[in-house]
Amino acid sequence: MSIIKNLIAGSWEESAETFITPLGTFSSATKVAVDRALIAAKESFQAFAETTTQERANFLKDLIHCLAANKDEIIAAYTAESQLPAARADGEFGRTIGQILRFVELLEEGNYLQPIIESKEGTADLRKMNHPIGPIAVFGASNFPLAFSTAGGDSISAFAAGCPVIVKSHPYHPYTSFKVASAIHQAVMNSGLPAGIFSHLQAEGHELGQDLVLHPLLKGVGFTGSFKGGKALYDMAQQRPEPIPVFAEMGSVNPMVILPHALANKEDLAKQLVDSITLGSGQFCTNPGLIIALGSAHERAVFEEALIRCIQTKEKQPMVHQSILTQFESKLNQHQKELKVVGGVPAAMGFTIATAFLKNLHWAEEVFGPYSLFIGCEQLTEVEAILNSLDGQLTLSLIGDDKDHKDVARLLPLAQEKAGRILFEGVPTGVAVTQAMMHGGPFPASTDNRFSAVGTDAIFRWLRPIAYQDCPDALLPPALQKKNPLHLSRVVNGVLTKESQ
Ligand code: NAP
Repeated sequence: MSIIKNLIAGSWEESAETFITPLGTFSSATKVAVDRALIAAKESFQAFAETTTQERANFLKDLIHCLAANKDEIIAAYTAESQLPAARADGEFGRTIGQILRFVELLEEGNYLQPIIESKEGTADLRKMNHPIGPIAVFGASNFPLAFSTAGGDSISAFAAGCPVIVKSHPYHPYTSFKVASAIHQAVMNSGLPAGIFSHLQAEGHELGQDLVLHPLLKGVGFTGSFKGGKALYDMAQQRPEPIPVFAEMGSVNPMVILPHALANKEDLAKQLVDSITLGSGQFCTNPGLIIALGSAHERAVFEEALIRCIQTKEKQPMVHQSILTQFESKLNQHQKELKVVGGVPAAMGFTIATAFLKNLHWAEEVFGPYSLFIGCEQLTEVEAILNSLDGQLTLSLIGDDKDHKDVARLLPLAQEKAGRILFEGVPTGVAVTQAMMHGGPFPASTDNRFSAVGTDAIFRWLRPIAYQDCPDALLPPALQKKNPLHLSRVVNGVLTKESQ
């Protein structure tokens, strides 16, 4: 079998070192490969940054064709490397394509450039718009081999912004990553873009990722994974002579508060919760890991029984990788020793009360997989104490019916302090890829709570504003020129308009 090579700026390259997985022998990228990928990225950056939004939209459209043309091979690699079924791979493939399409639409509309013009008699002519920041390293997620990996949201938002991308393949799915990287390479060539805008590197161990983050030509990092990995890379990036932004999306237990009238009256709620906890075997960053229920002892007991009945109907689903299953079993085992746990690997729930939880705050740590901890509360002050004790979260749900609105209103400021997305109905799993989405939250849910990793606003992680003062019209980027040749909506002297100025 031939060796699977690293892609460095359009050329597939071997190195002396290799590593082996059941799907093949992979060439290990060295520090020299990192250096070459970054030099090529830097050299291609200006030309890529200057492409029009339509040229980058066309590149992304071509990428959709290249991925679709290789779909069968990509799905086969995905199912061989993960333990997930073909239906999940197929669904995630569709989501990946859908995400790329959202960025095509964003580019064709162009308003993400956010042109702002202040031009009045007697004052300086100031024109500001967003520009790409430079080469970006992407560390894909174990739990989403497609939608949050090589051609996932981080890479696509960076390409859309006009930033070159260097992907470090995930150790759980290097062959899937290689197949997707081949499609990206094809699209780069078809589009006539500089080859340096994309490199794909693979190796065993942390060294490759660290060399990438420490490379002086790198300007930003997109990461999805564990708190340990994300924080290590973030710290490293801040200690560089030139610190760079690291947008790491890490752990979250996505607390769901259920208020008394909802607890008593929402008939389907227990089923809805258990379905969400076990969706994809719980391997979603929005999995509800803490259920905080306020109500009388009787109502809580009835609800607990309903949850237990639902758990017991669940069948075993695969975890994405054996090592994730092992980590899940070990953390579940710890909870089993310390509190009442019902169920096991297919679906499990722990049960405790507020006073016990507040003495054991380590129970709030993420148990990545199909598990959630139910905490019974008698007073709203206990709910407040629990929420106050928690770290930053991706999501927080306040589930109440009309009669609970007073309590919801009282908890809302705490929810705003703790989470990036606040839900008032439903469950947090299922993240729409739209402009209004926020998928990020106060640390440690993510390292920069001002930005989203999902939805088209993810592009703003890779942009920075530049203001042009008294710049001759012909030297301005088209988005800022007087005649508004791109027909963008621009803020001109405080008014949103498509008029020339
Ligand atoms: P991970 O161990 O953080 O790895 C993510 C990526 O970072 C991999 O490419 C890994 O590659 C690299 N990496 C990790 N630590 C590094 C370090 N110190 N220096 C340089 N590179 C480093 O996460 P994972 O493998 O995707 O999943 C493991 C656990 O993360 C899961 O069991 C789960 O608990 C959690 N997780 C959480 C979410 C979430 O959204 N909440 C999502 C996915 C996973 P190398 O190992 O090759 O260096």
